[in-house]
Amino acid sequence: MSFSLAIIGRPNVGKSTLFNRLVGKKLALVDDRPGVTRDRREGAARLADLSFTVIDTAGLEEGSGASLQGRMRAQTEAAIETADAILFMVDARAGVTPDDKYFADLVRRAGKPVVLAANKAEGRAGEAGFFEAYTLGLGEPVPISAEHGEGMIDLFDALRLAL
Ligand code: GDP
Ligand code: MG
Repeated sequence: MSFSLAIIGRPNVGKSTLFNRLVGKKLALVDDRPGVTRDRREGAARLADLSFTVIDTAGLEEGSGASLQGRMRAQTEAAIETADAILFMVDARAGVTPDDKYFADLVRRAGKPVVLAANKAEGRAGEAGFFEAYTLGLGEPVPISAEHGEGMIDLFDALRLAL
């Protein structure tokens, strides 16, 4: 099975950390087309027996002059359009923010397969944020630690179920 998975979430939740973990040491292809896809990174990823293309929506961190919501909206819409599935990431340590809610609504309305990951869930600091993530209406959050590689099997299970 071949599909593409876009990692969506506000800045600093850990998208690129997960991207790097999924892609491993392989060089990511850099897409330098102008516009919102300018600095989108794509790479070949593996999670157990699933092989897929993963898209890191890195452009959200760039100060392009547009508001965060404007940039995220463009990225989210592009990802929703082109990706087969979406991994929506929140920061379990920070808890759910109004931006998270706004973009979770956009993602939910798209009707594409979605996996909700509550990152930075290593240790106990992420417990409250993990439970808050249920309120996003994207199903059960999967607690992960992109940095420490925890929760990857559960992420894999959730992805398989969502597809
Ligand atoms: P992005 O802006 O969503 O791409 O987030 P990054 O991948 O750049 O990560 C933002 C910050 O969160 C960095 O300082 C990472 O080291 C940190 N981070 C990423 N994943 C984890 C995690 O699983 N646990 C913790 N505690 N920090 C993390
Ligand atoms: Mg990033």
